[in-house]
This record gives sequence, structure tokens and C-alpha cells, in this order.
Amino acid sequence: MLKLHNSYSNNVEEFRPDSNSVKVYLCGPTVQSSPHIGHGRSAVVFDFLIRYLKFSNYQVTFVRNITDIEDKIIQRSEEEGITTEELADRVTKEFQKSYADLNCLLPNHEPKATDTIDHIIYLIELLIDKGYAYSTKSGVYFEVGKFENYLNLSGRKRDEVMSGTRVDVESDKKNNEDFALWKISKENEPSWNSPWGLGRPGWHIECSAMINKIFNSGIDIHCGGNDLIFPHHENELAQSETAFENQQFAKYWLHNGMINLAGQKMSKSEGNIKLLNEYIDLYSGNVIRFFFLRAQYRKPQEFTEALLKESETTFNRILEIVKGVESNPTDQDFIDIFENSMNDDLNTPKFLGEVFEKINKINDLNDQKEQEFKETLKYIFEILGFTFDVKEKIQISNEDLKNFFSKFQITFTSIEQAMKEYLSKREEYRKNKNFDQADLMRDQLKEIGLLIKDGENTGWYWENR
Ligand SMILES: [Zn+2]
Repeated sequence: MLKLHNSYSNNVEEFRPDSNSVKVYLCGPTVQSSPHIGHGRSAVVFDFLIRYLKFSNYQVTFVRNITDIEDKIIQRSEEEGITTEELADRVTKEFQKSYADLNCLLPNHEPKATDTIDHIIYLIELLIDKGYAYSTKSGVYFEVGKFENYLNLSGRKRDEVMSGTRVDVESDKKNNEDFALWKISKENEPSWNSPWGLGRPGWHIECSAMINKIFNSGIDIHCGGNDLIFPHHENELAQSETAFENQQFAKYWLHNGMINLAGQKMSKSEGNIKLLNEYIDLYSGNVIRFFFLRAQYRKPQEFTEALLKESETTFNRILEIVKGVESNPTDQDFIDIFENSMNDDLNTPKFLGEVFEKINKINDLNDQKEQEFKETLKYIFEILGFTFDVKEKIQISNEDLKNFFSKFQITFTSIEQAMKEYLSKREEYRKNKNFDQADLMRDQLKEIGLLIKDGENTGWYWENR
């Protein structure tokens, strides 16, 4: 029986959805800047969940949204001198590429806030009609004091929240703790027509509107980072349960822990953000995924490059073991171990501990048992979203490869031969300290989807494998 930690009760609970069809919503990115390792963690750990639910024979409808209008997007696009759409499109593509590189399943729906404006307005009107929201010159606000169950999710104390709320002198809100549902736009800001004037939605209302629009009901599992519990999720909950009184908004609230960079909580203000795609290019999506598997999703996870290297070494050990092996669930005991760990609130480090205990004793097994263990290991890792035996993905045709290499006076017969010659040509440049030329060769190669690894293990590989 699957058990999951529900932030609402702050307990590990048996997972009992209303039916076999499970509705899962994950708060997706605000597309203001490139994804960092923390975004990768949230995507991958909940991908483990979704894959495991499917393995457990649930039908899953998975929604992950894109917040493509927000104060920070406006600010950033002004800094860059581009429109908010241009910025949001570019960053959205970066996120989607990283998700794909990490082999995360595509969501069934990936709604954008700007495509949901009508439903957002409908929801705000509903809240005004019910007397929980009011409009002022600056926008529309949710009156927090009227919602009885406010703070039940985060467990915060009411007076702490109220007294901790910054006094905003310019605001014409009734109470400081009330939050914006609709913001009247300033001049030159992106805006949409509404009954309250030209403006844009507040962040919290977007998720409530998307969930209602897509599911027309509450959901089974609401996921997100634990930095979203307050105020974002608390506010989503207040809006949705006020608008649709007879529906439980979310049965289970799951929150992933944050990534720590050398013990520091990763935050934009610390300025210690590394880009996700750089790590994927250096280590592969499998290795990054494996790194996330090593911590339980709820716990904070330390991140250093040394830990990533260690993950690479450890994952390579698994690759070595399953090399040339068929993927089959032949070792039922091993499957049971996997299920017991996952059922224990997705305890992936516990499972890995068992895996390596088995690997260390592999020599004690007879040939048949050893084969079954290897087949099952591969089978389980595939369930967890790892990819093996990736055939040489033909990203470009041989004809194009021939043309590409001919520019460097290399006759292409196979990719291995051509790359060997290419790398030795480049090595010459490096030896002669002509690093510009060497870098150019590396960059040109990247355009056809091939990457070079310098340093100890010099080599080449196809991007994103
Ligand atoms: Zn959300």
C-alpha cells in the first residue's frame, strides 16, 4: 500500500484516491530565467511519483503549468529590452528541453497562465459574488480574514502572518494580509481586459483557475516545492475552497525539499545558482536523475559538483551491470523490495541502499539468480525513468555528417572514425595553444548535436544521452 506524506495533515498517510484515475497537479515554473538544479529536482522527483503511480496501475492525468506572466517576467524583459512573450517563450523552451533531457514524462496538459485569462476572470467574479473578494483602484483582493481554514496547510499562526506582513503604504487593500487576485496594470505593462480594468492576474489565482478549468473538480495530489506552501499553496487552497465549497481542492499535498549549495539554501538572492542545462550537458540526464534518486524527495539535498561526480561513478556501476541484459521482472523478491521502499513515501535512498547491498553480494549468486537480478535491476531502473541501450540517435543524416566533416578535410566513414580524426585535429590546436580555434571546433560540433568533454576523460558524446 502506497503511503505518502501529506503536508496538510503533516502525516504519512495511506494513498486512497477516490478512483483509479488519479489527478496530479504540479506547480510549474515562472519562466523568467533559465532553469537551475532546483527546478530539475522538482521535475524529477515528481516524475518518479507519476511513473510509480502508473507502475501501480493507476491512470494518471498529470498537469504542470507555466506561469508566463508575473512581475519578475515584466521586470526581466524590460531589462533585456524584449517583450514578455519573447522572454517567456525562450525560457519556456529551455525548461521543456531540460525536462526532456532528464527524461521526464510529458504532462497531459501544460497550460499557460496567459491562455487561462477568461477562466481566471470567471473565478475572481465568483469570489467577489460570494463576498470573499473586493476590488479597489489598484486591483482585486482576496479577504483572507473571511476564510476560516486559512493557514491550515502551512500550520502558521494567524497573528504571526498578519503581523509579519509588510505594511504596503501605497496599497489600498482593506487588510495587509489580503492578497491580489487581479492587478491593475501600469502604463506599458502587458494587460488584459477585465470587469475591473486593464490588468493581469495575481500568481496564486492562476493555479486555482487552471486546475478547475482542466479537471472541473478537485484533484488527488497537489505537488510543488516546499517553498511554495506559504503563501502560494495556502492562497490557492483558500481561493478554490471558497469558490467551490463542495469540493476538496486537493486530497494530498506533496512538497519536495530544497537543494542546498554547500549548506546554503538556494535562493536567487544568494546568487549561487548554477544552470541545469550545463550539468546535463556535462554529466547526462541519467546521472542528474540518479543524483536526485539518492535523496528522499522531501528532504533537503546537498549539491556540489563532487557529489555529482560521485553519482556518475555510482551510476556507471549500474550501467556496467545491466549492459547487454534484457529488461525483465524475473526477480520477484527484488520487485518487492522496490515496492516496499517506494510505498514508504517514495523512499528512493532506502531502495538504493538495498540495491548496492545486493550488488556487493552478486558473486554469491548462482548464474540464474545473477541473471534474474540484473534483468530486474534494469527493469526497475527503467520504471524509474532511466534510459539504457540508447541506440545511436541519428540526429542528422550521414550525408550531412559527410558534409560537416569534409569542411575539416575529414572523410567520413563512421562517426567514431570521423570524431577520432576531428579530436586529434583539435588536440593539435590545443597543444599549440590556439585555444580560439579549438573552442570554435567545439562550438561548431555542438551545432550538429555533438559535445566534447575535455579534461581527464577526453571524449565526445551525443548531446542529451
Ligand atoms: Zn501553483
